[in-house]
Parts: sequence; structure tokens; C-alpha cells
Amino acid sequence: MRLLSLFAISLFCSIAAFAQKTLLHCGQLIDVKSGKILSAMTVTIEKNKITDVRNGYLQPNKGDEVIDLKNKTVMPGLIDMHVHLESETRKGNVADKFILNPADIAFESLRYAKSTLHAGFTTVRDLGGSGVNVALKNAIARGQVEGPRVFTAGKSIATTGGHADPTNGYRKDLMGDPGPREGVINSPSDAYQAVRQRYKDGSDVIKITATGGVLSQAKDGANAQFTIEEVKAIVAAAKDYGYKVAAHAHGAEGIKRAVIGGVNSIEHGTFMDDEAIQLMKQMGTWYVPTITAGKSVADSAKITGYYTDIVTPKALATGPQIQSTFAKAYKAGVKIAFGTDAGVFAHGKNWMEFVYMTEAGMPAIEAIQSATIKAAELLGSDQLGVIESGKLADIIAVDGDPTNDINAMGRVQFVMKDGKIFRRN
Ligand SMILES: [Zn+2]
Repeated sequence: MRLLSLFAISLFCSIAAFAQKTLLHCGQLIDVKSGKILSAMTVTIEKNKITDVRNGYLQPNKGDEVIDLKNKTVMPGLIDMHVHLESETRKGNVADKFILNPADIAFESLRYAKSTLHAGFTTVRDLGGSGVNVALKNAIARGQVEGPRVFTAGKSIATTGGHADPTNGYRKDLMGDPGPREGVINSPSDAYQAVRQRYKDGSDVIKITATGGVLSQAKDGANAQFTIEEVKAIVAAAKDYGYKVAAHAHGAEGIKRAVIGGVNSIEHGTFMDDEAIQLMKQMGTWYVPTITAGKSVADSAKITGYYTDIVTPKALATGPQIQSTFAKAYKAGVKIAFGTDAGVFAHGKNWMEFVYMTEAGMPAIEAIQSATIKAAELLGSDQLGVIESGKLADIIAVDGDPTNDINAMGRVQFVMKDGKIFRRN
């Protein structure tokens, strides 16, 4: 038995030594490092890594596969720093929490993960769900289901009654008293326990809801909901485990507390004022705008009965504001990483964010950088977000040139993740 497995290992190794290469012949290749577009390039892939990038169309050796992308624009796989893969918006879904079992959520999430990957998003941060998102991440990583690489927060961390308190809006006898395990804290020591619980659960990143939010069944969509001491405790605990901290925040006071507390990114940032912008620049805090979510909730709120009466006015007041906040923050020089809040709108439409970012004054190439090399920087990955020898082979191609027509980002024709092809039109 032992001999047989040794034989199998040596056979495997000899096959691996002659592993075929995949050559991508790229008509245009976006070099996100320099911000330049290169013509007529060949990218070579072996197993899950990029092993060569060179000028001209390299001819294959016997056994190599050539993929013709000569009339396409090729770029690194896109990264969306803010999605929710467990769910997707739908009119009147407020009762879902009482109807859906974790298995129902898991089956639903499969198609959201697939449509995200097929839209060219090869990596996402899942910033909050029930915890099913941890199992989803693992199933994708094992190759059992199709989806992007996931860095998941598991369950977000809130304070009592705050955005992401899981029993917000429940009937009193059903509210219970959720604590750090469920992602509800009310002190620095609770903060430590909640972060450590997420480590135990298998999270990759910590998400806090530093202010009220639009889609929770609670009155205020923007007030500060963490003390600075609580934020600092979250950040300190997160550092022990190598975690970055993402803070959902709409109101200026909550944004400032989160930034002073040391979080790595502000999500949404809707009502950030000049002082908050200066603080973010000073602290090196990233901004993840989610303009698409803002526009989408404002549109949905106009449909009678789409949201509950407590949510509708918040959606109308908050949603339309994000794009102009983004324009202001971009002009001021705040670091920006691409993020959409997909799930609040249909998964797979994440590319709309590129349209809204360029509409607000960011050049297309910078928007693409925010979803590749910049997003990888915020993730803390030196393997993602760039097409370069030695990096992971996450590569996509679109029809047309997005630097001339940003709508090209919605015409993804080719998707490779980890060296495997998932879409090829
Ligand atoms: Zn979100």
C-alpha cells in the first residue's frame, strides 16, 4: 500500500514537471502598476501562477494551450471590497430571517457567488452575514462550488440595538440578549471577546457597524454607535490575529471615532465632513464608497412596499448622497478602494460602480486600479491585483477598451481564477 502511494507520488511529480503552459495572447493589457495600456502581449500561466509577461505573441511549445484574446482588453481579476454573498435584495424580504434556515441561505448564496465570479470579480470581501459565508468561502476554496476568493467577516460586530444587532426590530419576547458571540458588544472587553470569537469561527477580516445603517429596522441611519474605546479595543484585538478592520459608517461623528480608533477602512462614508476627510488622510484610512448601493436603495425605496416604513426614509436620505461624497473625497486625495455592497443590489452588477466612479470625476484607469492593485493593498495581499510573474493567475478580459468606454467593464468575456478558466465566450 505504502509502495503504491510512493509510486503514485513519483508519477504525479513527473507529470507535473511537464505541466503544460497556458499562453494568453492579449491585444491590450492593462498594466495597473504604471497605469499604462500595453499592446500585443503574452501572459504565460503555469498551474495557478503567472510565470511570464512579455511583448509580442509568444509561440507555444507542444502541449501548451493558447487563448486568443487579441481583440480584448486584459486586466487583473477584479476585487470588490464590500459584498454580502448570503443574500440579494428583493421587495418585502424583511421576514426572511424567520423563514430561511442556514441551508436555504447556503443554497441561495451559490448563484450569487457564481454570478460575481462570472462578472470578472475574482476576489471579494464579504462584509457580514449569518456565518454561512464562512462555509461558502471554504467550499469555494476547496473547488466544490464556483465563486470568487472570499475574505469573509463572518458575522459583523455591532452594539446593542445598532446596525447589525441581529434581533433589531424583533418582537420583545424574541429579542433575547445577543452578546459578543452573536456580534453584539457593549464594552472594550466584549470587543476582545467578539474578535476572538470571529477567529474561532474562521473569519478573515473584522467588520464593525460604527454608525446606524439604512437597511436595519431602527430609526437612525447615521448616529455614532461605538465609543472610541470600543473601536480601539476591536482594532487592538484584531491586530493580535492579523486582521484588518472595516467600519461601516454614515455619519461624520461615527466616521471620526472609527478613524481615530484605528480602523483600516471606512465603508459608505456618506456624511463625511472636511474634518473627517483630513483625519482619514492623516491616518491613512481607506475609503470604500459603495455608490452603487446608495443609488440602488434610493431607487428601491421609491417602490411602494419594497422596504418597511422605518427603512424607506433612511434609504431616500442616505442613498443619493454617496456619489458626491466620493467625488469630494477623491478630489481631496483620500485613498480609495473599490467596493459596491452587492447584495443590496443584484450580484454581478458590481461593475456599475466603475460607471458611477468615473461619472464623479475619477479617470477610468484609476477606478480599475482601485479594484485591483489598490484593493490588494487594503487586503494586505502581495499575490493579487496585478499581472506579473510570480503572482496568482487571476485574470479577466473585456470587449472594448474601458479607458474609452467604461461600459466595457460590463462586457466580461474571459475569467481565470487561480489558473482555472471559469468563463470563456
Ligand atoms: Zn454592506
